[in-house]
Amino acid sequence: MSLNPFLIVAIDGGAASGKSSTARALAERYHFLHADTGSYYRALTAELLHRGVAATNPAAVRAELAELKLGTEVFLSQARMTIHGDKISPADIRSSAVTSTVSHFAALPEVRAALLPYQRGLADVARKHDFRGLVMEGRDIGSVIFPNADLRFFLTADPAARVRRRANEGQADAVEERDRLDSSRENAPLACPIGAVAIDSTHMALGDVVERISRLISARQFRA
Ligand code: C5P
Repeated sequence: MSLNPFLIVAIDGGAASGKSSTARALAERYHFLHADTGSYYRALTAELLHRGVAATNPAAVRAELAELKLGTEVFLSQARMTIHGDKISPADIRSSAVTSTVSHFAALPEVRAALLPYQRGLADVARKHDFRGLVMEGRDIGSVIFPNADLRFFLTADPAARVRRRANEGQADAVEERDRLDSSRENAPLACPIGAVAIDSTHMALGDVVERISRLISARQFRA
């Protein structure tokens, strides 16, 4: 195996399971591009809500999505989605209207199909920008988007710990309800893919989760 090949790391898990903080820390440590795919589902949700389209109307969702031109802005180590060249405001995608409806939009095959090539294409974006790898977090990265990723992880944590994390971030989030919707949908449900490394972070500090994953990255002869 050559030293420092391009590495794809998939991190899946439920709401507030620690995916984003972990992925961000790994991206900085190894100079990977970080893709927070939840933010892409949120961005499409915000746009569709803005256009007055409901998740109960898949035909309208499909028609609106066909109009959207998705792009990527690389900011530091983050791959941020743009729509028609416009940046997406973090406040918009974290609004309670988006948080409470995103799982309904994400359950639609139309929405997942629109994001699948976009997400896979981020490996090329990472290579073009000279990143040494891609760390992508979400719900179906290790199962659907990159089933052949070099490393696949699935983070879990007790619901009470996860609700506390969101509250500490000043956010009200029905994490169990979102997980229920995300796990029970027909398309790309939230589940630990066979062969992924499961990590329960309930009693772990963020740094310990990052160390555990880093050990496996280093075992691939990949240096920070
Ligand atoms: O990660 P975050 O909690 O911001 O994701 C918001 C929602 O986007 C999830 O609850 C889920 O419905 C959807 N999602 C998904 N597949 C992904 C990432 C997010 O269905 N890969």
